[in-house]
Amino acid sequence: MLRRNRNVKIVATLGPASNTYDMIKSLFLAGADVFRLNMSHGTHEDIRERHAIIRDLEMEMERPICILADLQGPKLRCGVFKNGSEMLEEGQSFTFDLDEAEGDARRVRLPHTEILGALEVGSTLLVNDGKIRMKVTDRSDVHATCEVEVGGEISNRKGVNVPDVVLPLTALTEKDLKDLEFACDLGVDWLALSFVQRAADVEEARPLVNGRAAIMVKVEKPAAVKAYDEILAAADGIMVARGDLGVELPVHELPPIQKRLVRGCRKVGKPVIVATQMMESMISSPVPTRAEVSDVAQAIYEGADAVMLSAESAAGDYPIEAVSVMNNVAESVEADGIYRQVIEASRTPSKTSVSDAITAAAREVAETTDVKAICCFTHSGTTAVLMSREKPRVPIIALTPKPATARRLTLTWGLHCAVTAEVERFKMAVVSAARTARADGFGSEDDHIIVTAGVPFNTPGSTNILRVAPLDEKKIFEGGPE
Ligand code: ATP
Ligand code: MG
Ligand code: MG
Repeated sequence: MLRRNRNVKIVATLGPASNTYDMIKSLFLAGADVFRLNMSHGTHEDIRERHAIIRDLEMEMERPICILADLQGPKLRCGVFKNGSEMLEEGQSFTFDLDEAEGDARRVRLPHTEILGALEVGSTLLVNDGKIRMKVTDRSDVHATCEVEVGGEISNRKGVNVPDVVLPLTALTEKDLKDLEFACDLGVDWLALSFVQRAADVEEARPLVNGRAAIMVKVEKPAAVKAYDEILAAADGIMVARGDLGVELPVHELPPIQKRLVRGCRKVGKPVIVATQMMESMISSPVPTRAEVSDVAQAIYEGADAVMLSAESAAGDYPIEAVSVMNNVAESVEADGIYRQVIEASRTPSKTSVSDAITAAAREVAETTDVKAICCFTHSGTTAVLMSREKPRVPIIALTPKPATARRLTLTWGLHCAVTAEVERFKMAVVSAARTARADGFGSEDDHIIVTAGVPFNTPGSTNILRVAPLDEKKIFEGGPE
């Protein structure tokens, strides 16, 4: 795989259906750019193994691959079942309790004393992103017996929501603190915080993460939607986590919220992932519903940085097919003239710094001349993100000497990331950019690229130079700034 033929990125969650080297490699080749490791499921040993597989794959593919570790947060989950799962029928009674024994068709453990204490007779419980609904008929501080109103399959560690009860929960649980340290120590590129309610929750995590990963906030609480501007300012990226959000709020409120969250991110140049149920039917079917195809397409037309697969790739029967379908939808949408019009009409550039001006200029040059790519040299990644925000028509190649930057940027719209040697002179940067562009299939000797960088290279500073350069190495030396 040299390059992708699309701007939007694909995030694939790993799980029992996708935990071998061969499977993860197949997902990558089918189009997965980012792998999500959900700390809610699986042990640290599982996570460590998958992490090692991805880093080995990265070496084999010679491409940076992004790893997103997702902290469970104060999510309520039931325990495990003797048979792994049970079918609950409408009208039956079912009990949540503190008993450590494995569950069956009548009961299961719910290891949250504060929840059992806060429930009332008449409270609604929703299981598995709202698919099963029950009402509490009898309770004590150690149990809640419910009548099943909408049945369905309940299985190990499914999420439980209590929408009409205000729960006394902290942002980072004991488990999260351990998982955070484990993931950062292992070396993940992004860390996702679940059930964030206010900017202070992000600020609490920031010193603990201490620059070892970028922080993604999962917006899945009504409070986070309300406090979005402050949360966005505190976060490095956003996930529109529609699963829990659609349980906590009426589902019909999701589309405008999704639009607002995506637009907010595009404005400030922070990556945004649209997640949950994008290809849900592909958990058990090799083809998606037309509505799912349309949902993925919609997120791409909105200019989201990434679309995500959850159970489809983690626990479904068709993980590779699900990634392929997403990839094909992305290529088809992005080849559409209306896509360009929509993306350009919703561009919100802010030209306040020299870097902003140079990146905007690079896009304009790319629109009026025939260049094959815009190559940005970046240390922290800022310049490449600014370039992505411009949404140019030609591919963007982000070149950085730092592998961590390349991996982190892989989540961002349109960025083809590559690790290069440290360069000292601008001309050598151009040579290096041209080599990457040729090697990765962006153009040949007769073509041209745009190169932007901040010079001099050995002093920190913003992007201040732009050259339209030939891909032919000999010609690079015939002119242009040193
Ligand atoms: P979250 O709220 O963080 O999204 P989730 O339970 O919805 O948590 P996902 O990662 O979205 O988890 O995956 C959806 C479903 O796929 C899970 O509910 C679970 O049934 C299954 N799954 C995902 N990852 C794993 C795993 N590592 N082991 C077992 N099952 C998994
Ligand atoms: Mg989920
Ligand atoms: Mg969730």
